Amino acid sequence: MKRDDLRNIAIIAHVDHGKTTLVDAMLRQSGIFRANELVAERVMDSNDLERERGITILSKNTAVMYGDVKINIVDTPGHADFGGEVERVLNMVDGVLLLVDAFEGPMPQTKYVLRKALEQKLKPIVVINKIDRPDERVEDVADEVLELFIELEADDDQLDFPVVYAAARDGYAKLNMADEATDLKPLFDLLIKEIPAPEGDLDGPLQIMVTTLDYDDYVGRIAIGRIIRGRVFNGQNVLVLNGDLETRAKIGRLYGYQGLKRVEVKEAGLGDIIAVTGLDNVSIGQTIADTEHPEALPAINIDEPTLAMT
Ligand code: GDP
Repeated sequence: MKRDDLRNIAIIAHVDHGKTTLVDAMLRQSGIFRANELVAERVMDSNDLERERGITILSKNTAVMYGDVKINIVDTPGHADFGGEVERVLNMVDGVLLLVDAFEGPMPQTKYVLRKALEQKLKPIVVINKIDRPDERVEDVADEVLELFIELEADDDQLDFPVVYAAARDGYAKLNMADEATDLKPLFDLLIKEIPAPEGDLDGPLQIMVTTLDYDDYVGRIAIGRIIRGRVFNGQNVLVLNGDLETRAKIGRLYGYQGLKRVEVKEAGLGDIIAVTGLDNVSIGQTIADTEHPEALPAINIDEPTLAMT
């Protein structure tokens, strides 16, 4: 089955190319579009955003709504990447936005993260950002991005990447430089079209791939990951699989993402990105599984623990 109501993406970029600004702009426009309609219902202002940020310092992921579709935006590491964190994050998503500054063009971190995305067979959408800059070099930058894809041996499908031109700070995006644009609708539409919806078995035995850990003084260890198969409920008994080792455990709280917040939910299913508490010994790379049919997921492919670009 296919979760047409869901997309899981990551935004990858060199530092300062506008990732935070783009996520903020997407958040501001979250939920304002109804299907086939352009009417803005309510745009989040900076105060709303700051307020949410204030209470959610620890939430690593962001979820925005576009019509009836929930888009999970998984946080990618900024400067430093130790021990394959980029790979782990990319394992949770079905597509990436590769954000490139319209003046600076591709930079070392652009190349680094793009290589990882291409290796994981993801097809990027290229977003050339800051097109409002007086010194923009949009055409040259588009060529440089294509050269980078070729240098990194992208396959034919990946080379056929769509391009969006954006001014994240002003909250708009367009598919042709000559278009008029006032919002991010063209980016949202393209994203829904190009990034595959999660697919799999919603009724099969539970498998959650644990990709990130977090900690909270109040609830303790938090395991974050993607549901690869089946459904999960709060309070559910599960097995934590570590190679041949099986440990019985019980899920405490179950969270999904909404805006910048983690919100408690009773149930989640195939494709959802979730956070769970109560699994004190769980580690990254392990599988949270059904007690009757425990099947470990393949280990996350991390070829080398890589030192970050600086
Ligand atoms: P990040 O490091 O990728 O998260 O980058 P930020 O989102 O923090 O943005 C870095 C800088 O670029 C900030 O000063 C932003 O205001 C600026 N910026 C972001 N988007 C745009 C844009 O569309 N146009 C211009 N001119 N500046 C932008």
